[in-house]
Amino acid sequence: MARLTDPVTILKGVGPTKAKQFAALNIDTLEDLICHFPRGYEDRTRMVEIAQLEVDKPACFKAVVMNHPRTSHIRKGLDITRVQVADHSARLNLVFFNQKFTTEQLQYGSEYIFYGTLTGDYMGYNMVSPSFESPESTPITTRRVLPIYPLTAGLSNASVLKAVQQALMLCDPPAEILPPEVLEKYDILPASDAYYAIHAPKTMEEAEKARKRLIFEEFFVFSAGLALMRASRAQKKTPAYENLNLQPFYSSLPFTLTGAQDRAIREIAADLGRGTPMNRLVQGDVGSGKTMVAAAAAYLAIQNGHQAALMAPTEILAEQHYASLSKLLTPLGISVCLLTGSMTVKQKREIRQAIEENQVKLVIGTHALLSESTVFADLGLVIADEQHRFGVGQRSALSAKGQDPHLLVMSATPIPRTLALLLYGDLEVSILDELPPGREPVDTFLVTESYRARINAFIRKQVAEGHQCYVVCPAVEDGEELNLKAAETWAETLQQRVFPDLRIALLHGQMKGAQKEQVMAQFAAHQADVLVATTVIEVGVDVPNATLMVIEDADRFGLSQLHQLRGRVGRGGAKSFCILISQNKNPDTNARLKALCKTTDGFKIAEEDLALRGPGDFFGSRQSGLPVFRVASLNCDLATLKLAQAASVEWIEKMGTADTPESQALRHRIADLFQRSQGTMN
Ligand code: ADP
Ligand code: MG
Repeated sequence: MARLTDPVTILKGVGPTKAKQFAALNIDTLEDLICHFPRGYEDRTRMVEIAQLEVDKPACFKAVVMNHPRTSHIRKGLDITRVQVADHSARLNLVFFNQKFTTEQLQYGSEYIFYGTLTGDYMGYNMVSPSFESPESTPITTRRVLPIYPLTAGLSNASVLKAVQQALMLCDPPAEILPPEVLEKYDILPASDAYYAIHAPKTMEEAEKARKRLIFEEFFVFSAGLALMRASRAQKKTPAYENLNLQPFYSSLPFTLTGAQDRAIREIAADLGRGTPMNRLVQGDVGSGKTMVAAAAAYLAIQNGHQAALMAPTEILAEQHYASLSKLLTPLGISVCLLTGSMTVKQKREIRQAIEENQVKLVIGTHALLSESTVFADLGLVIADEQHRFGVGQRSALSAKGQDPHLLVMSATPIPRTLALLLYGDLEVSILDELPPGREPVDTFLVTESYRARINAFIRKQVAEGHQCYVVCPAVEDGEELNLKAAETWAETLQQRVFPDLRIALLHGQMKGAQKEQVMAQFAAHQADVLVATTVIEVGVDVPNATLMVIEDADRFGLSQLHQLRGRVGRGGAKSFCILISQNKNPDTNARLKALCKTTDGFKIAEEDLALRGPGDFFGSRQSGLPVFRVASLNCDLATLKLAQAASVEWIEKMGTADTPESQALRHRIADLFQRSQGTMN
């Protein structure tokens, strides 16, 4: 017997080369291998006679080899092997390309099971490169449901399959962590069956059942982890804030708060006065005014004698926050400072010292604020702006720091309500579902290339009126993918051929931090008319004078992402526009893009996105701030996710948060999942 923690190299046929290929798939141990789940299956169970084979319908059949395979060398790199097979119903010609050695195994007069797809027409049929094996052998490539694995260069499906099967023979699969009553109540396959069934299902139904079980398990673990985090934070004590008077803050605001902002701030004030650490998510569409909510929270923390930290996803955004918040809070006697990586060593040292000596109250920076050697004298509140880069891994790391500051996360990525419950089980949620008054919705149009001249004229018109434009491209350099507008070349084209008299700037993610900031600062200061950019501008720039956003190859982006991009305009008083350019003819894609033209409600768009693409896309995205799910990201249905969540909540309610022997395995898995998600963030 082997152990799950043994390296894959103990397997027969896995040497250093194979091990390296497996490592490229993050597979080092037998457990990793057993948890490398198929991304799909091929149903190869259908057996027919040759005469029953139909074009384009793959099937298995048993046949005798009627002649010696003949291989002709066509040219360098191309060998063709031909062989005829027959059963009592018909004969069939088989053709193999570059499989001389494989086909040499076919013995004249012997019987084999083949699996393949018939091609051709009444002029003549044949079959190209079928799989085959002896009828006496254990079925590997025929007569079965064949798992299809995610692969990497050099590693074939067959070698993954063999390795997984060997691993399952050598050791027991991971232990059951779901409580027996949960298995029973939700009709869930036990772990001992599921791991075998997912890799070697007898039927497609069995494969489905195994997949469902493993998705259920993963979400049960995740959800239980969040519930435990929430419960354990709720037991922590922290001084309840006594001074909850926001009047001075309100009177220094240049505008009246929206009802939604007001509500969120009151919810936050209640949290802060409770005596346990706050754990709140503020979800609000772009432009809904989350910064003011954050400012109010910071104000309260500081009025009660503590420091607050505001973390932004980019330095540019940190600087913008610094500019607007120091303008707002300095008159109220609050010292605000900015701490970013691009400052000089000396500047950073001075600021750190001021933070450590409690001379500054509000510190604004990037996430590095927490990980770097910044020591706070008395950190009472941590605010993370743009939550989707601040995932559960960081959330749990923060609680683990032992300081237990209040936590406020701000998300501009509307997560469908159905998923939000699941994903933020450890957080209270405030929703800003109202835009500040006078904000006109951004008019959005979907057009094809034939509108190019009109689009150019429209850009010119906006600029002539003193406004600025964004042009977003899906790629940075040409050649990344055919026909995609690369930001770099497109900026050059616009400058030289289309708008020689306008000031065109370029911004993309591959530029150095300082360079990016410089470009952004120039655009914000109206030293450029048109900013050609990649999605780096998706989060975190605020240029109210920008009134037009043109998105090239819009079909390449997800709906939520397009909505996010669109949020960069319409931030000032002037009427704003968004033009989506797409040459895509796919009716589904166009329906998707048209939906975006019709609505500006980020939550509705997110629901639509979820319905169209499934939850997998939300989990698959590296920036979602979610853990890296193994099965759940493949292709899962919301119903299973919801059941798993309900089950875990029930279970935690019953078990409590005590560290009992029964909950050990579960806790272990939770730690694993959160750990795994931490490394992939940022
Ligand atoms: P978000 O971060 O939610 O996308 P911001 O906080 O950046 O939105 O606010 C967008 C713009 O709206 C900012 O220019 C801000 O000053 C302004 N703003 C915020 N709240 C209000 C309000 N209640 N009334 C008018 N303008 C507001
Ligand atoms: Mg914001």
